Amino acid sequence: MTDVNLIGGPSGGETCAVVTSVYESAPAQEPPSRSLADLTTLRVGGTARRLVTARTTEELVAHVHDADSRGEPVLVLGGGSNVVVSDEGFDGVVVLVATRGLSADVSDCAGAFLTVAAGEPWDGVVAQTLAHEWIGLETLSGIPGATGATPIQNVGAYGADVSATIARVRTWDRLAGAYATFAASDCGFGYRTSRFKEEPGRYLVLEVSFQLELGPLSDRIRYAELASALGISVGERAPLGQVREAVLGLRRAKGMVLDDADHDTWSAGSFFTNPLLTVEAAASLPDGAPRYAQPDGTVKTSAAWLIERAGFGKGYGTGPATLSGKHTLALTNRGGATAADILRLARDVREGVRERFGVMLQPEPVLVGCEL
Ligand SMILES: Cc1cc2nc3c(=O)[nH]c(=O)nc-3n(C[C@H](O)[C@H](O)[C@H](O)COP(=O)(O)OP(=O)(O)OC[C@H]3O[C@@H](n4cnc5c(N)ncnc54)[C@H](O)[C@@H]3O)c2cc1C
Repeated sequence: MTDVNLIGGPSGGETCAVVTSVYESAPAQEPPSRSLADLTTLRVGGTARRLVTARTTEELVAHVHDADSRGEPVLVLGGGSNVVVSDEGFDGVVVLVATRGLSADVSDCAGAFLTVAAGEPWDGVVAQTLAHEWIGLETLSGIPGATGATPIQNVGAYGADVSATIARVRTWDRLAGAYATFAASDCGFGYRTSRFKEEPGRYLVLEVSFQLELGPLSDRIRYAELASALGISVGERAPLGQVREAVLGLRRAKGMVLDDADHDTWSAGSFFTNPLLTVEAAASLPDGAPRYAQPDGTVKTSAAWLIERAGFGKGYGTGPATLSGKHTLALTNRGGATAADILRLARDVREGVRERFGVMLQPEPVLVGCEL
């Protein structure tokens, strides 16, 4: 990560000595306008009635609390990479989370215990952990957005979900008007969900703490495509830096690393979650459909597989909104698309999959002021 002010680092192996390591990424720029298209990776959405930037945790709570006391609608925004905002914009205050800071207590016996401000850009945090040889976030390289949003939908990629390393989440409970800290076991984590997503808007995430192991090698690689890119077998480990580079390479090839010059990345990432089906519904899918048994008895299938087999190939659509040319699961803005264009394409795909397979796809991004 560039623009990092590194103050300190882990010790040279003093047994159980705790060393505190701190860094802060560069401050966030002032937003160019109140246009939500400028603040979201899909680049659609009208303007916010009011926009404020919170640079400290105290400011963040104060902005949200003040608006709540006045009954003014609030939209909390990190990197804007998991939202579709309506063309009408947002008739309330948009609070941009631009808080900064990471501190870590590191010891040979307890590993690294990191606490990260909600506004820290996620990929910079991942890069820092790998540079310090802290294990656990390597396969989550390249995911856009801010750290505070990661517990909300329990972000995941290449065989790992962030919930595996989260120790606790500190929040402001807007309903109770009080601070509330949740241990990971109380966060209700599931596939792309959590208690924070289940009760939308209730919890303002202020800080996320992670418990990571120490060492030069990654966690065991669980994803076949990644293992193959690394030239190892599933279940083996690889040097942390190599895992990050392999993940970034795979993600770039799928348009899943933000790049202003590449319209395939003007998206909200995967637009639909992978459906969790009953055993009977999964059995009725054609031979060859991916089926992954889940601990809760459901069967996960692949949304991308269903979309492709329903006739929506890469690049489907005539624009200005089309499927990505690199990945059928990403709906993209080719330049000048509106939220209505994106939602029209999403309905088209969702209906096609429902007609062909009887499976109703669910959107992954949060829809603000609009619906499918
Ligand atoms: C190219 C691309 C690739 C992606 N790849 C992946 C992937 O591999 N895996 C994955 O899981 N996701 C992926 N995503 C989705 C997205 O990046 C993640 O969900 C990310 O965590 C969203 O962070 P954000 O800060 O941009 O959230 P935003 O879009 O700003 O917000 C998302 C939701 O969280 C709420 N929110 C944000 N911050 C806070 C806070 N501090 N407190 C309370 N609520 C808050 C918002 O109100 C909104 O409801 C991808 C997106 C893109 C564009």
